[in-house]
Amino acid sequence: MDKEWNKFPRFSQEYINGVTQFLDFSYTNGRPQEDEHLCPCAKCKKLYWKTRDNIKDHLIAKCFLKGYDIWLHHGSNYKDREKAHGVHEGPNDDARKFYNLIKEAEQELYPG
Ligand SMILES: [Zn+2]
Repeated sequence: MDKEWNKFPRFSQEYINGVTQFLDFSYTNGRPQEDEHLCPCAKCKKLYWKTRDNIKDHLIAKCFLKGYDIWLHHGSNYKDREKAHGVHEGPNDDARKFYNLIKEAEQELYPG
């Protein structure tokens, strides 16, 4: 999925369209909890669950979390990460999956 919209000014039509695409993508491919999802804005940093409308407001008002290019919590998978980095690096897939599970479990203990 194209993430170039991230580089547009926050109030531009390109950015707002991108936010909408991101929400469609993450609610389809990610793991929302009913109508809430982890907010990837610069303030919530994927630690807090928000409704879709809230996330949209946050992404426009506070901007997208810097460096969150691979949307692991929002439907992207490790293949995207490898593509983005161009190399196969770090622990093997199983180890990474396990590590990610631990990270997610930690986050779910503190849903905000
Ligand atoms: Zn937020």
